[in-house]
Amino acid sequence: GAVIGFKTKKGEVVHARVASSFISPEQAIQNLKELGGDSFEVLVQKGKDAWNEVLGKVEVEGGTLDQYRTFYSCLYRSLLFPRKFYELDANGQPVHYSPYNGETLPGYMYTDTGFWDTFRSQFPLTNILHPTMQGRYMNALLAAQEQCGWLPSWSAPGETGGMLGNHSISLLADAWAKGIRTFDPEKALKAYAHEAMNKGPWGGANGRGFWKEYFELGYVPYPESMGSSAQTMEYAYDDFCGYQLAKMTGNKHYQEVFARQMYNYKNVFDPSIGFMRGKGADGKWQEPFDPLEWGGPFCEGNAWHYTWSVFHDVEGLIDLFGSDQRFTTKMDSVFTLPCTIKPGTYGGVIHEMKEMELAGMGQYAHGNQPIQHMPYLYSYAGQPWKTQYWVRQIVERLYNSTERGYPGDEDQGGMSSWYILSSLGIYAVCPGTDEYILGTPYFKQMKLHLENGKTITISAPENGDDKRYISSMTLNGKEHTKNYLTHEELMNGASITFKMAAQ
Ligand code: CA
Repeated sequence: GAVIGFKTKKGEVVHARVASSFISPEQAIQNLKELGGDSFEVLVQKGKDAWNEVLGKVEVEGGTLDQYRTFYSCLYRSLLFPRKFYELDANGQPVHYSPYNGETLPGYMYTDTGFWDTFRSQFPLTNILHPTMQGRYMNALLAAQEQCGWLPSWSAPGETGGMLGNHSISLLADAWAKGIRTFDPEKALKAYAHEAMNKGPWGGANGRGFWKEYFELGYVPYPESMGSSAQTMEYAYDDFCGYQLAKMTGNKHYQEVFARQMYNYKNVFDPSIGFMRGKGADGKWQEPFDPLEWGGPFCEGNAWHYTWSVFHDVEGLIDLFGSDQRFTTKMDSVFTLPCTIKPGTYGGVIHEMKEMELAGMGQYAHGNQPIQHMPYLYSYAGQPWKTQYWVRQIVERLYNSTERGYPGDEDQGGMSSWYILSSLGIYAVCPGTDEYILGTPYFKQMKLHLENGKTITISAPENGDDKRYISSMTLNGKEHTKNYLTHEELMNGASITFKMAAQ
């Protein structure tokens, strides 16, 4: 740190040129050159222009001033993380201080993001709007693995291993599914296999906690591990991502390794009560069990929040319930239950509980990530209108442009990216695949200007409070009857028109 003073007369204005570096004082001087000879006013204008350019990648029309403020505030926040952790050397080449081994190394580096928060919405949005950056990041992720010995789960700026799961593989598989080819997939798979079959020293998600039990039993046991069933579900999804990346790149070996694990979520579902539940190493279900209780086999949530955490096999999850009807009825209950808070093993109220109560949507806890994809699951079970109803409710009731504009933690862009994708009428329920499930568009007209020079145009001329539901749609002038769009369809410069209706 430093404290710098200037000897001035009253009313005198001082302009100081300041630059910093993670590498060295010499590099800071190099970074200072970015300012050139520009005056303060010119630099302020350049900063505004730079933001305008980035925010201008998405244009929305047909809303109110308040809706625009909310939308662009969310778009802004979706872009603040991850942090660029590289600097440009005298030749304009990227170079970085490694927060993992302390060396200065060539190449790009990014940090300050926890993938548990950001794999669901933030990185999928980045894949659409900023694929060049995503490609650099995926390479940097493998560089981080070399520097650290582990694929980071939560970089801040070095690996902290925060939260659960090994979601770097979700980012890598999602990037590959969406055409990014900047990294060696075999290296990624090897790194992930190491992740899935070892435990590192930093935090629960550095490597894989209880990986042996997970492999031997097919689930993480409770109460041996707190958060065990959440871990089981997230490991199963991550293993699906490993399987996906192996499948997409023709790697038979890893395809087999991970295919064995990706349905393990079924082992923590208790069909007699229709909930994910804790299970002991002896195969006995957790007792006593109350689906309203937070913690225990779940993390920052309860069974009502976690029972849906099967991104990659929604059909399989529906089968566990027995029918579409039972599945959707259970989801309906999430919204109609009282907002009762039972702190469970937390022993007291954590902010996520309070946020659920303030949201006023029963046990639907949009303030935290585990349940945020759930409204989209109605579309897998033949009731897309309920997806549309609840997505619109959440977009309108839980986000606004005041200081109360977020229903919970901002989560490094996660909360905002959910809003942006949902406003566009699409959502990536399962990152690692190339499909976006349809929700409901929020504006009458939206345009996304893509890096490849193409434009996605989304029109819904009748859209409004009285017309929130999709009755039909066209893709490039042709009737579209699927309830999803693929990444390729979007990136080719799709022209999508929704016919909106009151019911
Ligand atoms: Ca959170």
